[in-house]
Parts: sequence; structure tokens; C-alpha cells
Amino acid sequence: ATPTALLVGTGRGAQLGVLIKGPEVLETTRTVDTVVLDKTGTITTGQMTLLDVITQSGTTRDEALLVAGALENGSEHPIARAIADAAQRVAPLVDVTDFTNFAGLGVRATITDRDTVAYIGRPEFLTEHGLALPADLRDAIVEAQNHGRTAVLVGWGSTARAVLVVGDTIKPESADAIATMHSLGLRTVMLTGDNQTAAQIIGDTVGIDEVIAGVLPADKVATITRLQGEGHTVAMIGDGVNDAAALAQADLGIAMGSGTDVAIHASDLTLMRSDLRAAVDAIRLSRATLRTIK
Ligand code: ADP
Ligand code: MG
Repeated sequence: ATPTALLVGTGRGAQLGVLIKGPEVLETTRTVDTVVLDKTGTITTGQMTLLDVITQSGTTRDEALLVAGALENGSEHPIARAIADAAQRVAPLVDVTDFTNFAGLGVRATITDRDTVAYIGRPEFLTEHGLALPADLRDAIVEAQNHGRTAVLVGWGSTARAVLVVGDTIKPESADAIATMHSLGLRTVMLTGDNQTAAQIIGDTVGIDEVIAGVLPADKVATITRLQGEGHTVAMIGDGVNDAAALAQADLGIAMGSGTDVAIHASDLTLMRSDLRAAVDAIRLSRATLRTIK
């Protein structure tokens, strides 16, 4: 490939709102056959809101929110931001000590003035730490997930105390972008730490070929490696800190412009519009550029 033609492609990319790290990137793009997409912040807006709080008898909504907000105050996770914001509207956030973040699982800390250890996160995160899951709360989790929402548990002492239902919105252009990927002969895979039921509902809504859910941050990169081992040339599109290793491992890493700096640094392309259709434009552009060169 002549460097001049590739540079022309790079300039055209800038016009389309795609920042390309180097001209050689377009060569990889041409051979991509599988596109792996993160869910939160990539297919969806990533602007989480707290939709509902379901408490176990003996716990009030305000008490559950107070503990949840205190725990999440130290976390950067989009779910944590939504919960801390909602809690702050009820009462000032209280102090915690011994804050520990478990990436892709949740948070544990001691609520200082209660001298009690509390947990918030995936349901399995609490049960694996020995907290009981009352039947009412289990039902509430299933109900939320069946609506494509994320159910987070908060608990302290010996038991889970409340389910916090959070959700965000699918970007209006995601389904269209995924349909265009299919028309270009690309296979689409959604990769998320969220639970299988909620993830599948969102995947079905936007027409994704395959949903891989419940994946821990460290295992996202292993999924990319596995697909490459099966002979695929893989593009990965993501925005989060959790996506950075997978973006770097992919043959083509594509970051959302709205994403974290780590994700952008790990990627070959950055979408300035944070619109998945720009990723499609980049793939089309690389094919057109390479055709010109030949
Ligand atoms: P994603 O792939 O959607 O970015 P993550 O790997 O960040 O998801 O998180 C996976 C799941 O772990 C979330 O859906 C949530 O249930 C739980 N989780 C992670 N961090 C937190 C947190 N700070 N508070 C509550 N839940 C969390
Ligand atoms: Mg994300």
C-alpha cells in the first residue's frame, strides 16, 4: 500500500469524525470479520439512573439508599454514580472506612458510624461473601433482569437488605449501525459484565448476533484472544477502563470519544461522535481506501 493513499484515508477519517492513530491502522480494518461491542456506554448511553429500590421487611428505602450511597461514593462506576446521586438527594452521604473495590463485582466498606461491614454489587458478589438472599429480593432481581435492567444488591450484617434497579437507554442509532455491520458481512458479538438475561434483552433489541455476558473485566481480553484463536480478525468497540486490555488485544481497537482516557489510549481509532455508525464509516472507508491503492 502506498503511504500517500493511506494518508488520504486518514484525512477522510477526520472528516467523518474518526481519529485514526496511524495510516497503517486502515490496513487491519479491511480484514476485520468480527466486531465485539461493549454494552454500557457503547450500545447504550451509559447514563445510568436508579429506577427502583425494593427493600426486605425491616429495612426502609432511605436506609438502604443511605448505605448504598456511602459505599458507591468512592467508586467511579456508572452504576455507582447513579446510586450515589440518588442517595445524596435523600440525605448527605456518610463516611466509610476500609473501602475496597472489586472490579466488575462491586464494593465493600465499613459504614463508620454504624461500625458495620456493608456490600453492594452483583447478587453473586454478596452471596459469595456469605450474605443471605431473601426470596422476595431474589424475585425482585429476576423481575428487573427480565426487563433488561441491572439489579444490584446492597446488604450488611448477615443478609442482603435491598435490590436497587438501575438502567440506561439504548442509543437510538445502535440498531441501525449493527444492521449495517451485518450487511457488510461482519459478525457482531456483545461482551458485558452485566447479567445474561438483561444483556440478552438489549442484544435482541439491537439485533446482535451473539451475547457473551457475566464476563469479569480480566476475562474480556481472554474472549478476544479466543476469537482470534478461532481464526477471526477482531475489532473491539468500547469505552471503559474495563475494556482497555481487550481494546489493546483486538486487531482493531475502537474507543468511543466519550470514553475513558485509558480506553482511548489503548485503541487504534476513536469515534468523535460516540455514534456506532462512525465505526461503520471507518470500516467502509478503509475498504474504499485499499481498493484505490490496489
Ligand atoms: P460492564 O461490562 O457493563 O461495563 P462491569 O464489568 O463494570 O460491567 O460490571 C459488571 C457488573 O458488576 C455490573 O453490571 C454490576 O452488577 C456489578 N458492579 C460492578 N461494579 C459495581 C458497583 N460499583 N456497584 C454496583 N454494582 C457493580
Ligand atoms: Mg462500557
